[in-house]
Amino acid sequence: MPTLDELIADSWFPFAGDITVKPFDPPVIPEPDRGGLDPATCWSCQRPDADYVWTDANWRLNGMLPTQLRGIVLLETRNHHDSFADMRPDLLAEIGPMIARVEKALLGLGDIARVHVNRWGDGGAHFHLWFMPRPLGMLQLRGSMLPMWLDLMPDVSPDDAAAALRGIASTLAADGGTAHA
Ligand SMILES: [Zn+2]
Repeated sequence: MPTLDELIADSWFPFAGDITVKPFDPPVIPEPDRGGLDPATCWSCQRPDADYVWTDANWRLNGMLPTQLRGIVLLETRNHHDSFADMRPDLLAEIGPMIARVEKALLGLGDIARVHVNRWGDGGAHFHLWFMPRPLGMLQLRGSMLPMWLDLMPDVSPDDAAAALRGIASTLAADGGTAHA
């Protein structure tokens, strides 16, 4: 485990100066409900296709707006699933190809070094995968510190953000599904 001084010296780490590590709170059991736990009131389930960047029979792609990086998107299942563990085998079999399609669409924006793909699920209870395109040359955004950097970065212009989502939608729709952005 690196020391705090070693972390601060690393260019990936967003913070410098005097910081201290919080002690762990005691475990909270049972845990509080997450948003959208009940499909009847789930925010994702209620949203129309028109609110998404791209959709098909089983998947919907949500664009993050406002955004600190062009092209941050979330891949959601059309139907309400919590995670991989409660998906049908045929839906699970589509995830790999879908990840590759979304990754290629984000790389197609240009000047993207790598697309970070993340699955947490501690926020909304409706299944979603995060795709975060790391801009070429921005070495400090490498790796798992990127989501923390996002909280510290200014938003890109609304026009640039919307143009990126339109590009992603049109790339995906060329291979099927419907572009809405
Ligand atoms: Zn839902």
